[in-house]
Amino acid sequence: MPGCVIHGAGDLRVEDVPSPVPGPGEALVAVRYGGVCGSDLHYWRHGGVGDFRLREPMLLGHEVVGTVVAYGSPDTAGPAGRPRPAAGASVAVHPATPCGVCPQCVDGRRNVCRDTRYLGSAARFPHVQGGFAARIVVPAEQLRALPAGLDPRRGALAEPLS
Ligand SMILES: [Zn+2]
Ligand SMILES: [Zn+2]
Repeated sequence: MPGCVIHGAGDLRVEDVPSPVPGPGEALVAVRYGGVCGSDLHYWRHGGVGDFRLREPMLLGHEVVGTVVAYGSPDTAGPAGRPRPAAGASVAVHPATPCGVCPQCVDGRRNVCRDTRYLGSAARFPHVQGGFAARIVVPAEQLRALPAGLDPRRGALAEPLS
């Protein structure tokens, strides 16, 4: 499947990448739109963002919306306190995966996790692959159903807006 992969400064390629398979607790999402963040531009123009330097090819993108294709297991739960989006539903993807074990996570403040994994980020190695691909796998709890009638193209602004 096609993906938008940064290899280094000025070296951005649309190339074939492996199709991901969702495991338990995960969702497979067909990506429809992605917003281009300033960080994506920095990876492209400079090969990194501040201290985060590209050390291997990485799919860019963390502001993505798409359509739920499938879940990794029948009992996969959706976002806490919300119904699981049905297959075919339009969703925005919350790009951060908290670690679950740091003091902030244990305290219920996962939004300020000390060791979060962020889509399309070279902050850690191996890099966290991003969302500019035909299909991505993310934890199902990071799906946010888009309201009926909202153009998914606009929904791609959910991450920068929030
Ligand atoms: Zn961004
Ligand atoms: Zn944490």
